[in-house]
Amino acid sequence: PEAITVQELANRMAEKGADLVKALFNMGMMVTVNQTIDQDTAELLVTEFGHNIERVSASDIDIDTSTDVDTEESLKSRPPVVAIMGHVDHGKTSLLDALRGTDVVRGEAGGITQHIGAYQIKTKSGDQITVLDTPGHAAFTQMRMRGANVTDIVILVVAADDGIMPQTIEAINHTKAAGVPMIVAINKCDKEDANPQKVRERLLEHEIIVEEMSGDVQDVEVSAKTGKGLDELIDKILLQAELMELKANPDRPAEATVIEAKLDKGKGPVATVLVNRGTLKRGDIFVVGTESGRVRAMNDDKGRQVKEAGPSTPVEVLGLGGVPMAGDTLTVVESEQRAREVSAWRQEQATAKRTAMAPASLDTMFSALA
Ligand code: GDP
Ligand code: MG
Repeated sequence: PEAITVQELANRMAEKGADLVKALFNMGMMVTVNQTIDQDTAELLVTEFGHNIERVSASDIDIDTSTDVDTEESLKSRPPVVAIMGHVDHGKTSLLDALRGTDVVRGEAGGITQHIGAYQIKTKSGDQITVLDTPGHAAFTQMRMRGANVTDIVILVVAADDGIMPQTIEAINHTKAAGVPMIVAINKCDKEDANPQKVRERLLEHEIIVEEMSGDVQDVEVSAKTGKGLDELIDKILLQAELMELKANPDRPAEATVIEAKLDKGKGPVATVLVNRGTLKRGDIFVVGTESGRVRAMNDDKGRQVKEAGPSTPVEVLGLGGVPMAGDTLTVVESEQRAREVSAWRQEQATAKRTAMAPASLDTMFSALA
């Protein structure tokens, strides 16, 4: 059953909310404009006010961007979004730090880093690369399960002294399932017992044929500790990105994906989003998952306030009505009323879904107990 707030119904009928409250009172219902009424009551009210009933469905209310395709001419190249995966202790965190250390902007700015879930580096050649800094397969699969494919390129880290391990194989499988191209970073090549050739050979068993073995998967020997091979790794990321012709239209209302969200004691609900297309601006009104909001402030990964963020840029957004979920889409809309309408609709849908699902999960619980 679909529910609607009195105010929304009033808006849709172009009537005053107070008049609807009055009519409801006469029908024996004490409600305020912010309360929801069920569909039958709503339909009764609509006829009462002499309007025609039009049953609404998701396509009438919710945002549909599938038909909103950008023209070829509007597309401009955007930085690649890179994720680092690999077995525990093979050097994911070390490589993330080492890559961050190559940022020429960070060098100039004095190097204050903020962990917002992703960062951007500017390479010596002036190109940008966005790096998701939550390593781990759980985050990757969770995002994918929610339909969010933000990663363009996976960097598979394999320690040259340890070789292919269970989580290496898991990462290979996730990457293949996502259809994302991979670059193999053979790490810890500074170590005496490093055997990068053995890594390449063992990768064949998982149908990963690297360039050194005449395949087309790029590989590079690195050391997160000494910095060896980092420039080469960056070049390979940029080359891969070029092959993929990554593009987005920056000149339109923004659409972004939540990569991290939390309730901050001082700032309230905050979310780090990665802009997919368009440019997110301070003051923009948006819907994100079941929440709505207005961009009050945005911070980049260097802790600087920014006024706008274009495609592939990660920013921490302040001004949300609640905490969204990782993988949720943020969409900029034209008015606060529209934002509230969509978020209210989605909240109702979510509640209805939860209610509908409850008996099934109870059944499962009882059968599990039996
Ligand atoms: P993660 O679990 O994949 O994030 O791995 P970490 O980055 O935490 O690294 C695990 C350990 O390996 C740490 O003690 C690092 O100092 C060490 N390590 C990482 N990269 C290198 C490297 O290139 N060379 C050497 N010798 N040690 C490394
Ligand atoms: Mg780590």
